[in-house]
Amino acid sequence: MKERIYITTTLPYVNADPHIGFALEAVQADACARWHRGSGREVFFNTGTDEHGQKIWKKAQELGKDPQEYSNEAVIHFEALKGKLNLSYDNFIRTTGHAHVAAAQEFWRRCDKSGDIYKKKYQLKYCVGCELEKSASELVGGRCPIHPHMELELIDEENYFFKFSKYQDQLLELYKNDDFVLPESRRNEVRNFASQGLNDFSISRLAEKMPWGIAVPGEEAILPAGRQVMYVWFDALVNYVSAIGWPERMEEFEKWWPVIQFAGKDNTRQQAAMWQAMLLSAGLSPSRQIVIHGFITSGGAKMSKSAGNVIDPIAIVDEYGTDALRYYLLSAVSPFEDSDFTMEKFKESYNGNLANGLGNLVSRIMKMSEVYQVSSQLTEVRLQSIPPEYQCAMESYRYNDAMDVIWENIRDADLRITETEPFKLVKTDAEAGKKIITELVHALAEIAYLLTPFMPSTAEAIQNAIKENRLPSPLFVRK
Ligand SMILES: [Zn+2]
Repeated sequence: MKERIYITTTLPYVNADPHIGFALEAVQADACARWHRGSGREVFFNTGTDEHGQKIWKKAQELGKDPQEYSNEAVIHFEALKGKLNLSYDNFIRTTGHAHVAAAQEFWRRCDKSGDIYKKKYQLKYCVGCELEKSASELVGGRCPIHPHMELELIDEENYFFKFSKYQDQLLELYKNDDFVLPESRRNEVRNFASQGLNDFSISRLAEKMPWGIAVPGEEAILPAGRQVMYVWFDALVNYVSAIGWPERMEEFEKWWPVIQFAGKDNTRQQAAMWQAMLLSAGLSPSRQIVIHGFITSGGAKMSKSAGNVIDPIAIVDEYGTDALRYYLLSAVSPFEDSDFTMEKFKESYNGNLANGLGNLVSRIMKMSEVYQVSSQLTEVRLQSIPPEYQCAMESYRYNDAMDVIWENIRDADLRITETEPFKLVKTDAEAGKKIITELVHALAEIAYLLTPFMPSTAEAIQNAIKENRLPSPLFVRK
């Protein structure tokens, strides 16, 4: 039986257009999915949108729209990423979908049955940007450090709470697995967080104040004014199980669970602690692995409209092409740490590595191959073996390191052409010249194979050029 791999991104809120940080996450998850499929594993790759909560409710109100109508329009920008970023996902889940809503309600019932849900009157400071409560120690100058431009809201109501505190020991046990949260720094962070003791968190809102959420089961009989809806995180996290059929299609669920989750560093606690405790409470096994990426800054600063340093992934794709952005996100951006992204650096890398480096190598080799009828005589171009450093990097999500291996191959092939000059040699010693050109075509085929998870269209264009023995049209035009 084929090994099965279930991969998911987090679900972005639909209240703003897709940003470069989510493009990074989607492309990382896609490279992972393509790598596993190419290695003969069966893959289910999930992504989608988070459509409930105060942030979306407010945005819809500002626009004078019904929140569902607003979400239906906004989701189009996220669905468009499939084409723009060439994502190979199998499922796009929307948290307003019927099956997900029913799953979130069943999940609630399971946690309730475990005795983990209770009602409490409380007060707290809430960041609508994060859709999270903020303790005093998390604030900088009285504000959320991720959303310093937003006023914190004061919530003073009676809500349902989840017994997070009950799961401290089980979570700490989970973090003993070195691979459960990557990188190590994030695993240490969440372990420290859990070892300090966990505070139960609120999992509902008074519908009177914020109605845009899934109805809490059993609240139907209560007068509308006192009804509660689910806290957006409780609902949204459940998507990782509802996406694969839980609780209706258990055979499908068991086929895929547990999941490998890609998430940003602002999601570490929610994914690696809150969600894992919720799973334990509902009687489900924890996730398989949580892979955390950093933030992308621009010119050393946080991106913001007012600073004018926002990097728009769609604009880059429209100007430079999908694979150019995928290449940069997976090679120049760190898979785990914060990274800086400026258009100057992007353009420099595009011209130097893609237009000149890879693009030139493909034309040099395929031109010789075309003229001397080399690749048309190859019966099969098969990869001898995958470089172990590449394989190891791919399995541990170090996409930049895997790309370095490919770039070594590109440099080696370039050097070989310069040193042996097969285009001259073939005129004096046809056999020796053709032999070198043949080896170069094989090297190019290997490069194309290794590039597949990163730059699928480019890899395919190279493979087709080899198959048809022709010089392809330029892969990357100099900008
Ligand atoms: Zn915030």
